[in-house]
Amino acid sequence: MTKTVGTALRPLLRRVQGAMSSNGTAHERLDELVKVIAAEVVAEVCTVYVMRAGEVLELFATEGLNPSAIHKTRLRVDEGLIGDIAAHAHVLNLADAQTHPKFAFRPETGEEIYHSFLGVPILRGGRVRGVLAIQNKAKREYTEEEVEALEMIVVVLAELIAGGDLIGRSEQITADGNAILPLRMTGISINTGVAVGEAVLHQPRIQIPEMFSTDPEAEQVRLQNALYQMQQAIDKLFAVKELSGRGEHNEILEAYRLVAHDSGWLRRLKEAISSGLTAEAAVQKVQDDIRIRMNLATDPYLKERMHDFDDIARRLQQHLSIKPITAARDVQLPADVVLLADNMGPTELLDYEPHRLRALLLEEGSATAHVAIVARALNIPVVGRITDLLTRIDPNDPVIVDGDNAQVFVRPGEDIQQMVTKTIDARNERQKIYAALKEEEPETLDGQRISLNLNAGLLIDLQNLKDTGVDGIGLYRTEIPFMVREEFPSVEGQTELYRNIYEMADGKNVMFRTLDIGGDKQLPYFHAMAEENPNMGWRAVRVALDRPSMLRQQLRALIRGANGRNLSIMFPMIAEVAEFEAAKSILGRELEREQKRGGVLPSQLRVGVMLEVPGLMWQLRPLLDRVDFLSVGSNDLFQFLFATDRGNPRVSDRYDVLSPSLLSLLKNLVLETENAGVHISLCGEMAGNPVEAMTLIGLGFRTISMAPVKVGAVRAMLRQVNAVALSKYVDGLLNLPDHSLRQKLTAYANDHNIPIAES
Ligand code: PEP
Ligand code: MG
Repeated sequence: MTKTVGTALRPLLRRVQGAMSSNGTAHERLDELVKVIAAEVVAEVCTVYVMRAGEVLELFATEGLNPSAIHKTRLRVDEGLIGDIAAHAHVLNLADAQTHPKFAFRPETGEEIYHSFLGVPILRGGRVRGVLAIQNKAKREYTEEEVEALEMIVVVLAELIAGGDLIGRSEQITADGNAILPLRMTGISINTGVAVGEAVLHQPRIQIPEMFSTDPEAEQVRLQNALYQMQQAIDKLFAVKELSGRGEHNEILEAYRLVAHDSGWLRRLKEAISSGLTAEAAVQKVQDDIRIRMNLATDPYLKERMHDFDDIARRLQQHLSIKPITAARDVQLPADVVLLADNMGPTELLDYEPHRLRALLLEEGSATAHVAIVARALNIPVVGRITDLLTRIDPNDPVIVDGDNAQVFVRPGEDIQQMVTKTIDARNERQKIYAALKEEEPETLDGQRISLNLNAGLLIDLQNLKDTGVDGIGLYRTEIPFMVREEFPSVEGQTELYRNIYEMADGKNVMFRTLDIGGDKQLPYFHAMAEENPNMGWRAVRVALDRPSMLRQQLRALIRGANGRNLSIMFPMIAEVAEFEAAKSILGRELEREQKRGGVLPSQLRVGVMLEVPGLMWQLRPLLDRVDFLSVGSNDLFQFLFATDRGNPRVSDRYDVLSPSLLSLLKNLVLETENAGVHISLCGEMAGNPVEAMTLIGLGFRTISMAPVKVGAVRAMLRQVNAVALSKYVDGLLNLPDHSLRQKLTAYANDHNIPIAES
């Protein structure tokens, strides 16, 4: 393809663009478009067939053929020339169409007088969406320039069809070539609950602002700049990762580098721009062409490479677009949002207005990732690890999320809707039972009182204090209010926040955990360096001790917010006694300062540690001499004990919290704290899962803290437990060589009529 060819096309593309941007319905624009194309390429006929449900190509617009054939003439895929083009996603350029073996004569069209034929598939997202064809009476083959013209024009037609105004979304075609039908997908349950809403992609598919450009030279420069930036970014990534030795990720990065430097790919991009496409449209067109070729390929290696190309194209689009986009800022979000992402950080979820969020679906994700914790605070069902989520659900698809059974129903039929109504009814029944139990003492059959508490972080969590009838807040994650702000809150702002919490807690105890930022909880306004292993990096108390003014301001605000009431403070991620001493001495200084300025000090101050780093187990004695309480952060403790990243779906559930080793550690801890007379509680996610909470009671825990939505089921469970008998049973399991004790513990619950259904 030469540059002159591209240059000659520009006026045509300008006119096509003009027809596209005219007012009128999608169908009117299509009618206008076939007229323009016929006039510009000097064709006597120009027709557009659109793929409809059931693999049928329907004549949608024509210039030259009998207009009464519109919406009447239909061809199956592989039927006639049009069907052949759709079946093989290839171009047909014929001097005499009627002599082609595939020619299928349709009398209603009146096409018998035309001989030459040029047809081009309309591709979008790896699917054939339709066919564009031109015809002339004279027998001649079309020129390379004419073929290229149609190949450019179909990019616009693809947009028009994919826009959904021409045919309803329910009629569009999936990647497998099937009509869009109801779909059921499964994953893992990260948060229970049932919700109904509309699919919203967290990172919307790129909307291309302009398809054609009048200044291809400028577009080439934009492409070169974006390619340069992208390649730099990938090379940088590669350079850093390489330091950690060879591994699978290096191979993946190497594959990316190969794609990004692939000369064939780069040449096709440049050619598409020379023909008059904008850089973004060129990336999309080339990507669509590659997709089709790879879809037709049978080689699994080639199919796998598709992901590399897709990823690179996405990255390149990001470098081309002015701002990176997420749907959070979209003013037209539906009222009921089912959010879809591959994975996301907790801050990104908090960007959405909570009253719209109905459910979260993730391609990756794990139960103890912080985004899951925030979703739990928002009380929305979450299903994770859904294979091909982002390619199989389209924006605005109606979706039902059944977090209890880890199922997702896309475009559900009547029967499913009825079934879900039943599930919702059953849940409501259970909730009623839990609500009735709320006033009942959380006491085991043998009279052991279990203190149930809430994990909280958003102010709305505190409203649950009354509804759940718990004793207090066992973990207040102070970083969550920081994450939803635009800037670091002042001492006054924080004081106000803590005062509100005290007021809403209405005399109930609140355990404030100082800031646990870092890891996957980044503050948008606090820039830390990228880290290789952020969970084990600069986070929590480490940041606090290195930036003492931040900790001091927070402690000052907590003292002032308490305003003479009891204050409980705990420090996260303490790895050694010296860190606790350092943090506590900062607290001491703040108390002194407050006293000097004539402020009111807390009537009672309790200072504790979150046990999350296994190393601290070997400093228990000196630690227990110094703390008022310990709270086990089992999410972090578990990930460090088993060396499994809690946010990495490949390993996060490789081991079980109900393993003999973690349970033995916890047992030991309970015994040591009992001996030392130090209060112990547990506030990781395991406390909210009935069978795990039951096990904790068996280990001797009498205080546990969980997400509000989990309280009902845990209370119902513990009231059927005989703590002494359970304790004996659990003790007998601790020395087993098993991978997990879950089956045995579940069987114990079932044998003893202990209800362990989740909320
Ligand atoms: C934990 O690690 O168990 C915990 C409660 O803290 P977070 O989940 O906020 O890290
Ligand atoms: Mg933690």
